[in-house]
Amino acid sequence: MTLRVAVIGAGIVGAISALEAVRDGHHVIIIDPDSPGGEQAASYGNAAWISEGTVLPVSTPGLWRKIPGYLLDPEGPFSIRWSYLPKVLPWLIRFVRAGSTVSKVQATARARRTLVATAISRYRALADEAGLSHLLHHRGLLYVYPSRTDFEAEALEWRLRRELGLTWDELDGPALRRFEPGLGPAYGFGALLKDGANLSDPGAFVAGIVKHAVSLGATLLRARATDFRVEGERLVAVTTDDGEVSCNRALICAGIHSKELAHKAGDAVPIESERGYHVVVADPEYVPQHPVMPSDGKMGLTMTDSGLRVAGQVELGGIKAAPDWRRAEILLDHLARVFPSIERDPARIKRWMGHRPSTPDGLPCIGPSTACADILHGFGHGHSGICMAPVSARLLVDLAGGKSPAIDPKPFSVRRFR
Ligand SMILES: Cc1cc2nc3c(=O)[nH]c(=O)nc-3n(C[C@H](O)[C@H](O)[C@H](O)COP(=O)(O)OP(=O)(O)OC[C@H]3O[C@@H](n4cnc5c(N)ncnc54)[C@H](O)[C@@H]3O)c2cc1C
Repeated sequence: MTLRVAVIGAGIVGAISALEAVRDGHHVIIIDPDSPGGEQAASYGNAAWISEGTVLPVSTPGLWRKIPGYLLDPEGPFSIRWSYLPKVLPWLIRFVRAGSTVSKVQATARARRTLVATAISRYRALADEAGLSHLLHHRGLLYVYPSRTDFEAEALEWRLRRELGLTWDELDGPALRRFEPGLGPAYGFGALLKDGANLSDPGAFVAGIVKHAVSLGATLLRARATDFRVEGERLVAVTTDDGEVSCNRALICAGIHSKELAHKAGDAVPIESERGYHVVVADPEYVPQHPVMPSDGKMGLTMTDSGLRVAGQVELGGIKAAPDWRRAEILLDHLARVFPSIERDPARIKRWMGHRPSTPDGLPCIGPSTACADILHGFGHGHSGICMAPVSARLLVDLAGGKSPAIDPKPFSVRRFR
């Protein structure tokens, strides 16, 4: 059956969903008030990692013990604005509970793995189809630690990866330095995850996918979706600030702004912004051979088309507060440890802040809403939306079109939050 599908939001999830829906023969209208892949979207400014090993959720056993320290340390990788604490507390409690035992984390990791296990081959197919192969690079992802002991301290993460079939090369001191000669002396051990790739301009990738979907028949409407019109139990239209868009399916893919729309579709979803930052250093003195993540900074350093991007930090502060650019300075401090030859030259540095759309349990919401099965959720990908988007989009479009999906949708149902 040919459907009229409104895709709300043209970030990475909406863009790929729109393409999948067009390929399935549906009429597709993409609704976004801004440019696809523009600076407003998390899909623009992320670290651009495509990791098939991003299985561990952020919340893990024992995290609650670290939270007071985070609250007191304004320079750590995780911070909470004091004024926002009362508002974020219920989310935070759910977040800590979601990772309170190893068995909960194992179940989450298995569900996350279904969304990322085929990420690289899917990106390759998308890039080939849309003429975007120049933006996709498959060189592995390098995790660096001060020492092997520090690597072993993250045993749970690597054990889960092994259990889920992932492999990596371990690089001690000299081998690590031969592999990535510009690394600073602070790092003496590395693990190279082979099932890892990266984009060199994620915003351009999103824009390219949307352009391709439009070339195949999708329509792009510059408008903000505001509500839904449902008659009987069937969806009739998405309302926007520029009038109604008639449709019989709507996919909510508006990143952090999905919360209000989900609410209109009958679901009070606990989704918070984990605000993140990036700095891009144009023409860096050292060009890393691989994307690198230092264990002490928990940020991704990735060579992009505009320079070396350092992306990371988690700040709980809501979506309205202005950026705290001290967090960008923290990223630069870490960069100086990882690649000491790179100079801190303000004329070559660009900064950005964006919103990771995060559920407390590390899993996205994909599937029908409570109020109307014709309105489907496709959001909440948190730290891993680039990695998960191709499989999430396929699942979403299968569910919208009544096809049996290739993976089990149950872990991603919004009903888990009731
Ligand atoms: C610092 C940082 C580093 C990251 N690193 C990685 C990484 O290395 N790998 C990884 O996998 N993930 C990473 N992420 C997470 C990833 O970027 C996100 O999970 C992903 O981009 C979310 O995509 P999205 O399409 O859901 O939302 P977005 O990209 O935010 O797109 C949402 C779109 O919806 C539109 N919109 C909003 N409201 C409306 C409305 N009412 N009507 C219509 N349109 C609307 C917006 O304009 C926007 O274009 C990182 C995130 C950050 C912040």
